[in-house]
Amino acid sequence: MVFEKFAGSVRSAVPLAPYTWLQLGGSAAFFAEPTDADQLQAIVQTTNREGMPIKVLGGGSNVLVRDKGFDGLVIHLSAPFFERISILGNTVQCGGGTRLAHLITACVGAGLGGLEHLVGIPGTVGGALRSNSSTDEGDIGRLMTQATLLSRQGQLNTVTADQVNFSHRRSSLDELLILDASFELEKGDVRQLTKREQTFWIVKRSKQPNYPTRSALAFIDLDGVSAVELLQRSGVNGLIEGSVQLNSTYPNYITANTGATSAQVIALLERAQKIVFDKTGFSLQPHVVVW
Ligand SMILES: Cc1cc2nc3c(=O)[nH]c(=O)nc-3n(C[C@H](O)[C@H](O)[C@H](O)COP(=O)(O)OP(=O)(O)OC[C@H]3O[C@@H](n4cnc5c(N)ncnc54)[C@H](O)[C@@H]3O)c2cc1C
Repeated sequence: MVFEKFAGSVRSAVPLAPYTWLQLGGSAAFFAEPTDADQLQAIVQTTNREGMPIKVLGGGSNVLVRDKGFDGLVIHLSAPFFERISILGNTVQCGGGTRLAHLITACVGAGLGGLEHLVGIPGTVGGALRSNSSTDEGDIGRLMTQATLLSRQGQLNTVTADQVNFSHRRSSLDELLILDASFELEKGDVRQLTKREQTFWIVKRSKQPNYPTRSALAFIDLDGVSAVELLQRSGVNGLIEGSVQLNSTYPNYITANTGATSAQVIALLERAQKIVFDKTGFSLQPHVVVW
């Protein structure tokens, strides 16, 4: 087998559904959980030499795996090496596989503020930077100072904030993988920051389905118009396709129920897109990334 020398870190025919919030879709031909950056690089270089497609999975909160699965290698940064957090002065550096929640808690505990409004957004720092996760209070991109990227050829490259474009739920960090990132935060009082974090957490929880609900964000807001507003104006809240529904309690979230398939999610998104376009002239784009 191609990945023989990485035995223990690369498995074959691994179901991806358990790794995603929607818990849907087929298997990955290969699934890699490297132990450190050197092994990660070697696996990527081998995959590239074989001409095999490759994808990176974070917390799986914004990925929909197709029913047929993915005929390539999926990298999952689950090893402790990729979840390290280090704090020096106002600068915090962490691995791309770090849970956003862990990063926020570590920063707040160290008296560093700026990220706490992002509390409650599921997933990893790599996933958050890739899609420039945000709330009404701002996005993650504006606090990033530097990131280490790994290319599809297995080359490492450092970029600074001025080389990256961040816009609403988008970034130009489109190399294969975000290995680590640094953020510049502001000193603050631990008790006040903790209170701020708790308040944001309570508000966020009240606005979204929480795990173990099988859910994902449906559409990206457009310039000046929110997806929620467009869905409401078009009367598609609660729209159903098979066992998948546009959540009526939490608009703009898709919920998968027992018997759901990825094909149903895709069909639901397309139907909602068409209705919204016909009724409002706005063309919504899916938030969830389809593999
Ligand atoms: C209940 C719920 C609430 C949410 N609330 C918000 C919100 O308030 N604001 C918001 O912005 N989003 C929100 N989201 C969307 C989602 O949580 C974010 O997009 C999140 O940042 C995705 O991170 P992840 O690690 O789960 O990425 P995944 O879903 O695993 O991957 C998403 C994309 O990022 C890529 N990726 C993942 N890790 C890396 C890496 N290390 N390097 C390069 N690419 C990588 C993947 O290849 C994929 O293309 C919500 C989702 C859910 C289900």
